Amino acid sequence: MKGYRILIVEDEKKIADIVKAYLENERFKVAVAETGQRALELLKDGVDLIILDLMLPDMPGEDICQAIREDSEIPIIMLTAKSEEEERIKGLGLGADDYVVKPFSPRELVARVKALLRRSKGIKKKVSFNNNNLIIDESRFEVIKNGSIVVFTPTEFKLLLNLAERPGQVFTRVQLVNAILGYDFEGYDRTVDAHIKNIRHKIEDDPRNPVYIKTVYGVGYRFIGLPDED
Ligand code: CA
Repeated sequence: MKGYRILIVEDEKKIADIVKAYLENERFKVAVAETGQRALELLKDGVDLIILDLMLPDMPGEDICQAIREDSEIPIIMLTAKSEEEERIKGLGLGADDYVVKPFSPRELVARVKALLRRSKGIKKKVSFNNNNLIIDESRFEVIKNGSIVVFTPTEFKLLLNLAERPGQVFTRVQLVNAILGYDFEGYDRTVDAHIKNIRHKIEDDPRNPVYIKTVYGVGYRFIGLPDED
């Protein structure tokens, strides 16, 4: 993934520096803008992905997001210190592709950046977790657990990939149905649960103590595997 240009729009120098260091470690080309105005200037140079803080000194991140979306489909990850669900949904409604709530793990943010770039550039994914214990290879349509290929149905594969490409993020059952079927369909909750159960039997050593897919009670599911370094 090296060489892609990432623009960090963040006025908190400490955060910008850490994220920049992590991204440069992955050989991304990184620019930092401390204001919205500067971000809009730097965007003219061409950027592959933007990490955009919601709270900036000169203008709200939402305004920048909207301004970008007027003429660009460039992937945007929003950073927000406000964890309220409403803020998140608002961020996504404005055209952001993903969001991360502060405080966040830089490693997780890098994983999100890579996932989003792959999606936007149409790059097939090959991701591995927990020291190569679990490998998901999209181009070969394979899941490898402990060195052995495990047979997945297309729906199970889509579901696992959707969860795994955003480690740590909680997905509701409706979001997961949407992701695997391509549209919202109420009443499929139990179908999702059934698929998750099957997936757990295939990738978890002990399905009752999962280390990959965790149930978030009353909400949905979250992937908790640790992404390996590329
Ligand atoms: Ca800020």
